[in-house]
Amino acid sequence: MSLCSLVMASGVAYFDDVRVSLEVADTPINEDNIESAEHLGEQIQHSSKSSVVVAGNVRELLECPVCLNAMYPPIHQCSNGHTICSGCKPRVHNRCPTCRHELGNIRCLALEKIAASLELPCKYESFGCIGIYPYYCKLKHEAQCMYRPYNCPYAGSECTVVGDIPYLVNHLKDDHKVDMHNGSTFNHRYVKANPHEVENATWMLTVFSCFGQYFCLHFEAFQIGMAPVYIAFLRFMGDDSEAKNYSYSLEVGSNGRKMTWQGVPRSIRDSHRKVRDSYDGLIIQRNIALFFSGGDRKELKLRVTGRIWREQ
Ligand SMILES: [Zn+2]
Ligand SMILES: [Zn+2]
Ligand SMILES: [Zn+2]
Ligand SMILES: [Zn+2]
Repeated sequence: MSLCSLVMASGVAYFDDVRVSLEVADTPINEDNIESAEHLGEQIQHSSKSSVVVAGNVRELLECPVCLNAMYPPIHQCSNGHTICSGCKPRVHNRCPTCRHELGNIRCLALEKIAASLELPCKYESFGCIGIYPYYCKLKHEAQCMYRPYNCPYAGSECTVVGDIPYLVNHLKDDHKVDMHNGSTFNHRYVKANPHEVENATWMLTVFSCFGQYFCLHFEAFQIGMAPVYIAFLRFMGDDSEAKNYSYSLEVGSNGRKMTWQGVPRSIRDSHRKVRDSYDGLIIQRNIALFFSGGDRKELKLRVTGRIWREQ
């Protein structure tokens, strides 16, 4: 308590009281005090370090004991004070998972408020994000963080691999045996026997490397309503903001006829299926595809040429 508040608190301040207080406040300097003053200095120096430790401990407190995820309001607790997240609460049949007591409907406001005062690094720190966010903003940032890893862009399998672009390029090459091409122009032939079976869908992925970036060319059969079609489209291995700097064109044809498509590559943040289902690519109806294939219509033989360029 400072001298000032001491005086105020007593209501009527007598001179003697003030002097007594002054004497108390004005403690003689001895070695003990010097030592403790030095300790104080050290404490201040280390305070940033210790606040990290404190933040770490509070972070553990904010971990739901059931799902191990970070808890967000409303945080619930049992009558013994064990906490649980609002997602898990309905799943434990009103029994505290820690002490088995009835859970009731008690909120843990204190923990919610402590959480609000926390600032934590983005969980993609190891991928290069240096952002530090208030606890309640962290999730929102992480959903949008540009350093968050990408899903494997390979279609047609349930591949769960995630990583940054260089990692995924190697993964496509090594694990999916995807064709890799250098350069911004291409000339591709798609050949398939039995083109009348759309169910066992033809699909192919080729990766192009140009402008220091990687692009995925997808080609596949699917159906629009009842009509069997083929689609070819390009995806950019990077974020949407970067993808917009590029354009591409695709061309398919034969016998003096041709179809062309010009588009903007879609980020691989958008799933292969999402891009396909928005028809954002060169769509070729099967009859036309077979016409372009020539011959006896028993085999699909398409030549797709294309070019990728950077917009100014
Ligand atoms: Zn939980
Ligand atoms: Zn409990
Ligand atoms: Zn981040
Ligand atoms: Zn994969």
